[in-house]
Amino acid sequence: MPKYYIWTIGCQMNKAESERLGSYFERLGYEASASAKDAELVLLNSCVVRQSAEDRVVNKLDNLKALRRARPDMTLAVTGCLVNADTKSLTKRFPQVDYFFKPGEYPQWLESPKETVLPENPNVAAYVPIIQGCDNFCSYCIVPYRRGREKSRTPQEIVSEVKELVGRGAKEVTLLGQNVDSYGHDLPDKPDLADLLYELNNIDGLLRIRFLTNHPKDMSHRLVEAVAALDKVCEQLTLPVQSGSNEILKAMRRGYDAEHYRRLVSEIRAQIPEIALSTDVLLGFPSETEAQFEETADLLSELNFDTVHIAVYSPRPGTFAARKLADDIPPAEKKRRFGHIERLQENIATAINARLKGKVVEMLVEGEKGGRWRGRTRGDKLVFFNDSRDCRGKLIKIRVEKTSPWSLQGIAEG
Ligand code: SF4
Repeated sequence: MPKYYIWTIGCQMNKAESERLGSYFERLGYEASASAKDAELVLLNSCVVRQSAEDRVVNKLDNLKALRRARPDMTLAVTGCLVNADTKSLTKRFPQVDYFFKPGEYPQWLESPKETVLPENPNVAAYVPIIQGCDNFCSYCIVPYRRGREKSRTPQEIVSEVKELVGRGAKEVTLLGQNVDSYGHDLPDKPDLADLLYELNNIDGLLRIRFLTNHPKDMSHRLVEAVAALDKVCEQLTLPVQSGSNEILKAMRRGYDAEHYRRLVSEIRAQIPEIALSTDVLLGFPSETEAQFEETADLLSELNFDTVHIAVYSPRPGTFAARKLADDIPPAEKKRRFGHIERLQENIATAINARLKGKVVEMLVEGEKGGRWRGRTRGDKLVFFNDSRDCRGKLIKIRVEKTSPWSLQGIAEG
């Protein structure tokens, strides 16, 4: 049986797409391989959202050059956000690659499936893409240029896919999109994300629903109400703020200001007091002064997020920021700002998680390694416990004994 190997980097959308591509290769008669060395088909699912991610992709492709030369029977393909419309230039830059295909698509040199190919044995917590692309064009972001304009999948398609995944063992789904809050605007009856959540909440056997990523400009009151009302929708939201400075938010073309963001967080917390919030910040954006950086630090201290994903700015060729704004914050200063926010958030998360010590939390068990089970609470806290029973896919109550900024440890109750 021929073998395939997929290397994935980047966001959850890439992970979901790689999972589906793997299932599709298996349907075509391939078998999964743990390394590129033994595979006839090697696929790289790439990310270029930051320079550091692009460097890793280029490195990987360089490393594969010799293997590709030594193995004429091997096919090397690349998908993900490295792939732009100009495949001629890509082929010139990476002659070792046989095929490039756009993110979200199937390889054109193989037989295309009639419908999405779902994993035979999905994870307990499965990903379900609901909208592709992005219409926002934030000044620093390459995604809209690579994934194109927003395209929603129909609610019927999504509901039947979730039912299928639940039938195959999934207990939780995370609905994915670059901006899930604009879901449905391009469909005939204009259903929104809240409508979709109401439908999914009725699926028997499905225990939990999450979704990401939200956009502060587009998140509706109706959606907040739906999260508060629906029992399967977890009390957890990912709401990227990017900066606490209004001047920087304007230069980023985010479409909201810090006051709007604060009001939104207050509304969410008033309606869903137990909500766990995570955010993204982008530091060292062109012209970001020390005072503007401090505004971001102040906002994070004030709003107390459970998780903060920190990134530093790197110009992405083709974006407005790369064309028009000088990348004028020195690398050492970007690094200092990164370290400052990292320490700040570590202290905040330490304090938030420490409050759970001695409490009982409910977790959905996702997997096990060496007798140590791993899963998450509804608030997306990672939890570990030891147990000799088969706990996969079960909701288990855990008494928390130890906490860190990143996870909880405890013992099963009963
Ligand atoms: S909302 Fe902005 S940052 Fe997010 S994918 Fe769209 S353009 Fe990029």
